[in-house]
Amino acid sequence: MASIFTRIIRGEIPCHRVHEDAHVFAFLDIAPLAPGHVLVVPRQEVEFLHQLDDAHAAALGAALPKVARAMLAATGASAYNLLQNNGALAHQAVPHVHMHLIPRFEDGRGLGIGWRAGQIDHGEAAALAARMREFIA
Ligand code: AMP
Repeated sequence: MASIFTRIIRGEIPCHRVHEDAHVFAFLDIAPLAPGHVLVVPRQEVEFLHQLDDAHAAALGAALPKVARAMLAATGASAYNLLQNNGALAHQAVPHVHMHLIPRFEDGRGLGIGWRAGQIDHGEAAALAARMREFIA
């Protein structure tokens, strides 16, 4: 069954469209954290960012600054967050990759962040980075 975002892209469910091209579709979030909260969605319907093919990943990357400029111009905001959740454990509700572009205003409207910074363990970090390099190579 098609995801709710695929159904929006097909025009089966209404949305406030912001941008579209061959690979990407952007529209306003129906429950915005602030006015102008945009979702940027690849047409390819996969759950996780790492499942995107190169063409959709590249198009998504190219669309984000374009949509961000439009969002800033339309809202008057000067700050914003880019959020992308992968997996229900990471707060993903809709299993179709999407980027949130969320304007942040002086009065606090926007994304609230609970950032629990830890202390790096350099031994563990060196091993993890090495494993990632090996995987990429
Ligand atoms: P996430 O938690 O990252 O999966 O976020 C999913 C987002 O999709 C939420 O912010 C919802 O408000 C938004 N959303 C769900 N249904 C719709 C819809 N029909 N139109 C616009 N946004 C939607």
